[in-house]
Amino acid sequence: MKGDTYLAWSSDEKIRKKGESGGAVTALLKVALEMKIVDAVLVVKMRNRSRYDGVLSLITDPNEVLQSGGALHFASVNVARALKEYLSGAKDFRMAVTCKPCDCRAIIELAKRGQINIDHLILIGLNCTGTLLPAVARRTLKEEYGVNPDDVVGEDVDKGKLIIKLADGTRKERDLKELEEKGYGRRENCRRCAVNIPRMADLACGKWGTRGKEATFIEVCSQRGSELMGKAIEAGAIFVETPDQQALKEREEEDKQAVALATRWEQKDFDVLRWLPYDDRFKYWVEYFDRCIKCFGCRDVCPICYCQDCYLEAGRGFLQGGQIPPHTIFPLVRLAHVADSCVNCGQCQDVCPMEIPLTRLYHMLNTELSSLFDYTPGMDVSDYPPLTTVTDEEALIEEVNVFRKS
Ligand code: SF4
Ligand code: SF4
Ligand code: SF4
Repeated sequence: MKGDTYLAWSSDEKIRKKGESGGAVTALLKVALEMKIVDAVLVVKMRNRSRYDGVLSLITDPNEVLQSGGALHFASVNVARALKEYLSGAKDFRMAVTCKPCDCRAIIELAKRGQINIDHLILIGLNCTGTLLPAVARRTLKEEYGVNPDDVVGEDVDKGKLIIKLADGTRKERDLKELEEKGYGRRENCRRCAVNIPRMADLACGKWGTRGKEATFIEVCSQRGSELMGKAIEAGAIFVETPDQQALKEREEEDKQAVALATRWEQKDFDVLRWLPYDDRFKYWVEYFDRCIKCFGCRDVCPICYCQDCYLEAGRGFLQGGQIPPHTIFPLVRLAHVADSCVNCGQCQDVCPMEIPLTRLYHMLNTELSSLFDYTPGMDVSDYPPLTTVTDEEALIEEVNVFRKS
């Protein structure tokens, strides 16, 4: 049931060897296909065996599930956007999707807006404390670790360290804070990301709380997740044990430390802007907006941008065909459109050819709104954005006004 926790590992030795942390996630995906609980699973895998090139793969054959890439920290695949664009139209097509917290949150925001049928999905959430842009990862490994990036066979972001494993078994680690202060390391949005355990998914899986065991810590977050776990255990696809108090404490402690690091980055990034006089703050952003070449990249990649007939397209009456939008309009219109739904996934900033720190702007406004309305996007499909809901008091005032006017 919801709230149950397990330490789990695959009962299949091949999966245990190839999969991450005892292969429990791979085993769950396989059993979901075998038992026809879903028609397909959507996973991230390496293209051309490169850790720097992750691609989405839709798998329908249980025997192919082992092809999934495990944890890839050097590829930040846009799961929610792909799901919406290419897979949401298939009626009654059930899927299990492995996703990071920001992917799960984007899927939830899309579901709220009727863009995805979440009832056909099982979200297998994976703990995440950050991903690196492929080019930055290669540069970091070469310049800071002194290794050939192509020799790296595994990596992890854990306990404030970026850890890599080489083909000859060597392990090297560096302090993330030091790396990031030098301009290496995780994407800017990931540094500020404080949602590391995907409790908004059906299952939240990770290695925090495993206390060195080759196992996955799984928290059941929904009825759907509970049913999948129950069936996998019953079928003997996974072995489980109940985590002890120490394991639960360790997991909470790891999460607390990740949140503290994210909060420090948030303060660093935002405080410098928050306390600027208004005119200087405006100037700061307008100088960035001036760089915008209206390539539409940020709009096209944003998982939450879903309007078929985008306001920013020429011919909508807002901008005339043949005209170039004034510099501030483009990012500001997007800001207004994603203020209550941005999940800080960083995709927009990753693709911006003019290197505008878009997530700094969107995340900052989003954080302000979240504290004002006590609402965080992407956490619960039944929790609607504040400006789309009306309190009883507001409804009463409206009724009184209508009555007065009549
Ligand atoms: S934004 Fe958060 S969940 Fe998404 S990749 Fe970065 S750290 Fe992971
Ligand atoms: S605005 Fe940027 S960070 Fe926010 S959801 Fe869209 S792509 Fe992700
Ligand atoms: S990606 Fe950058 S340059 Fe392109 S439209 Fe968006 S803000 Fe402008």
